[in-house]
Amino acid sequence: MAVVPPRQVAVLSMANYDEVCEAGGVQAGEEALVALRELAISCGVDAGYMRALNASTLLLRLDDLSRADFLEVLQKMIDRIDSLVVPSIPSLPLVVRVGAMSERAMRSLVNDAALDLLSYMNHLDCPAAFLTGDAKDDWGTVDTSDIEFISHEQLKYMDAFTGMLTIERFFDLLQYALDNLQEGQSNLAVLFFDIDDFKSYNRTYSHEDGDRLLLFLAQQIRDAFEGDVVCHLSIDRFAVLTNSPDIVRKCAAIHSATRAFSASFAPEVKCGIYQLHSQMRSAAIALDCAKLACESIKGRYDVAYHLFDDNLKERLFTRRYVAHHAERAVNDGWIRTFAQPVMNTQTGELCGFEALARWDDPDRGLLSPAVFIPTLEEAHLIHKLDLCVVEQVCQHLAQRREQGLPVVPASVNLSRLDFGLCNVLDLICKACERWGIDHSLLSIEITESALHGGSNLRYEMDRFRAAGFEVWMDDFGCGYSSLNLLKDYDFDVLKVDMEFLRDMEANERSKKILLSVLEMARKLGIRTLVEGVETPAQRDFLRAAGCDMMQGYLFGRPAPIELNLC
Ligand code: C2E
Ligand code: CA
Ligand code: CA
Repeated sequence: MAVVPPRQVAVLSMANYDEVCEAGGVQAGEEALVALRELAISCGVDAGYMRALNASTLLLRLDDLSRADFLEVLQKMIDRIDSLVVPSIPSLPLVVRVGAMSERAMRSLVNDAALDLLSYMNHLDCPAAFLTGDAKDDWGTVDTSDIEFISHEQLKYMDAFTGMLTIERFFDLLQYALDNLQEGQSNLAVLFFDIDDFKSYNRTYSHEDGDRLLLFLAQQIRDAFEGDVVCHLSIDRFAVLTNSPDIVRKCAAIHSATRAFSASFAPEVKCGIYQLHSQMRSAAIALDCAKLACESIKGRYDVAYHLFDDNLKERLFTRRYVAHHAERAVNDGWIRTFAQPVMNTQTGELCGFEALARWDDPDRGLLSPAVFIPTLEEAHLIHKLDLCVVEQVCQHLAQRREQGLPVVPASVNLSRLDFGLCNVLDLICKACERWGIDHSLLSIEITESALHGGSNLRYEMDRFRAAGFEVWMDDFGCGYSSLNLLKDYDFDVLKVDMEFLRDMEANERSKKILLSVLEMARKLGIRTLVEGVETPAQRDFLRAAGCDMMQGYLFGRPAPIELNLC
């Protein structure tokens, strides 16, 4: 039997279902749905034509009605929705939306437009939304004053979750604005909103709570920038194109309203602001600038917004520059190895050094790893840098040996990506062989975060250890589940993140945690190294705590390996 497509469809949807359930439990929600059913029946809809789409929505398929009767039913429903209540909580009015689709609209539908319309309706201020096929749709006698008409085309631009524009549409409009910007005209700005650590919010509460926070923020943004172009970019990110003269005040208001949304968590929403000007040609770059401005204040609790400025421009420029020159840098010897001494805590003697990479740029001078490591990882060239450092370390150790100077072991940093990009163990073994370096003189440092990739890193690490290299866990304590890693992986040394030491003086708990970590490592037979030692007091504390090794500015900053005394 052929399936006949519906001709006339209406939806009745509760906009405040969550609120109803909060006030009266799921039972109240069920009562409310019954109230919707009764409303539909009282307006002449046959119960057999109703279907609950979900807990808060009824779909009414009204194919049998004549056009005039269909319109009459709609009008009745719109007239009556204001008086609906849930019997068990009469003080809370039920907020209901009526949606309808015309015959023309139905004919041109490709997918489940009833659902799209429904999500759209939930973001509306007016009680009804009708999906129209085109301008010629005839809604007959229905009073149109309270109805929002929307075409299927428009619905496609709508993000179903928030009712804002989709990212594609936002880019189109932003590009259009840029293409038509006059010289000297600069009252348009792009804003980028992002919630700091939204993942934690989801984890602390639930995904439903997370969704509620997002919808709340979406509403705040929409209200503050009414009439402007607002867009839901991705999970917890939003963008706005606005000519408001009052952006800063609005951002601050959104920031404090969002904080107040959950008193115990105080979600931090940050905003990056980028003022458009006629030299800017690309929508993607303009949004990127706003994003960068937003990222620059991540984790800072005292600021709600940041304007893209020259400082950020320089950082963006450097990032691009690094991306373009990455290949050259690793192939043409721009990468230089610096060394930082590692001390034996108990004897106070030098016992090793960490090799740290620098990018020695012919035009821009020395660049720090924070600038180039992420870019090289993105470009999948990081293994070349890491092997370059290994080569320089081996060469250095061989030279010292030849000159009859004392030799101490070195540790090198490896990126998680190295293991997928090349046979890193094999290549490091070959470098050692070339320079005649014993494997016991080289340790590899892997950051804790790398181990969350879930790859077969454990197998790789076992191979390194079997080949006679020590494996050290770097930045211990700054990731999520450090303790689990200790259970699952074999390490020779635990490098404790410098934040613990930094915090110690002000925070008694940090001190206790640090002591427990050192104690636990000792019980597990893992040696310990604490990074970031800057004061004699910190050194003395670590010595008393039984820590094995120390590293930090107190003993020496990273310096070119050839000038270093280790
Ligand atoms: P990391 O491995 O945790 O390196 C320690 C960082 O702390 C170094 O920064 C070092 O200069 C700094 N530091 C050392 N002592 C102190 C101190 O007392 N106080 C303070 N405030 N800082 C101290 P650097 O050299 O900028 O390196 C940053 C990060 O870049 C490294 O963190 C490492 O994750 C990465 N990195 C550096 N070289 C390489 C490399 O060759 N390969 C890979 N894959 N990553 C590297
Ligand atoms: Ca390291
Ligand atoms: Ca570290």
